[in-house]
This record gives sequence, structure tokens and C-alpha cells, in this order.
Amino acid sequence: MKKVKKGDRVQVLAGNDRGKIGRVLAVHPERGRAIVENVHMITKHQRATQNLRQPGIIQREGTINLSNLLTICPECDEPTRIGFVNVEGIKLRRCKQCGENFE
Ligand SMILES: [Zn+2]
Repeated sequence: MKKVKKGDRVQVLAGNDRGKIGRVLAVHPERGRAIVENVHMITKHQRATQNLRQPGIIQREGTINLSNLLTICPECDEPTRIGFVNVEGIKLRRCKQCGENFE
């Protein structure tokens, strides 16, 4: 069970993008990192390949440590620490702000 899931809205706690809110595009639990929309943009120099004829500079999201993200509760819309609960055999996340459970 993960505290941060793909599709979550999260707030960034550290780095240049501190305070920014974005949607999680991907989570890499084995690395403890996630990619968040429009957060921690990095510049890559793209060389021309057969598929991509135009070389140049592209911007894309870099990964962020999961510990630097706070999930925004879908119930109360506040960034919150997450707990876990088991409701009739289903594991849910619990907002520590408002106490609501969500998937
Ligand atoms: Zn809440």
C-alpha cells in the first residue's frame, strides 16, 4: 500500500518547486520516487534519432523523492499525512486532517 498513488494531487515540500501542487504522473516505489506534472522540470538535450528528426532541447519532469510530497485529501482538499485503515478487508488511506478514508 502506497501513500502516494498515480493520479493523486500532491503538494511539494522541498526544492525549487516547494509549495507547488500537481498531479502524480507515475510512482516508482522501488526507487522511492515519483513524477509530478509540471514539477521539477529538467532540461534534456535531445539528439536526432530515426524517430525524432529534430534535435534540440526538451523539458520534462524529473523524479522527486516521495518523502518530499504530501497527498492532498480528496475530501477536505488539504495536504495531509496519510494513515492506513482496513475497512471490511479493504485497505484504504485515511486523511489525518479530516479523518476521512479514501482509496
Ligand atoms: Zn481530509
